[in-house]
Amino acid sequence: MKKALFPGSFDPLTNGHVDIIRRASILFDEVTVLVGCNMKKNTLFSPSERIKMIQSSLSSFVNVKVDMWDGLTVKYAEMNCISVIVRGLRDSGDYEYERKIENGNRYINPSIETVYLSSSSENLYLSSSAVREYLKFGVDISPLVPRPVLEEIEKKMKRGKLL
Ligand code: ADP
Repeated sequence: MKKALFPGSFDPLTNGHVDIIRRASILFDEVTVLVGCNMKKNTLFSPSERIKMIQSSLSSFVNVKVDMWDGLTVKYAEMNCISVIVRGLRDSGDYEYERKIENGNRYINPSIETVYLSSSSENLYLSSSAVREYLKFGVDISPLVPRPVLEEIEKKMKRGKLL
């Protein structure tokens, strides 16, 4: 069984992430979306909130699992017999950044390969940080995130717990 790992912050999950996950789920038998929960990073959503939104958004993908991890991605892959890391590429900035991570991962375990899927044109300029910025200034984000993410954001806003 060919298993792949899609690690990231997903703060929050966007349609750009979902597109990569959907395409990876066709290429691989099983895809694990791994939510990084590095406490040093200042995030808008807690790891458990992010997991909940991702699980609801991906419920129709039968071969996609969601998990969280606060250690090295490569160590998680080794522990779970996963030999491929999937990453999304939007532009040359992503490419430069991703190549450094890939090289670091290869230094730790050369048998784990990184596979890149390039962004669909409609998601080229979409990022979690753009979504967080739009939220700060009241810009409509409904076309950019899956419905369960939008619902969770609206719930949080009503409770005055967002931003
Ligand atoms: P990180 O916090 O590790 O920078 P994210 O959680 O934002 O990354 O994203 C995880 C992965 O999803 C990365 O490989 C990133 O390049 C990719 N990604 C994010 N947004 C998009 C998008 N709009 N299109 C394609 N890939 C994307």
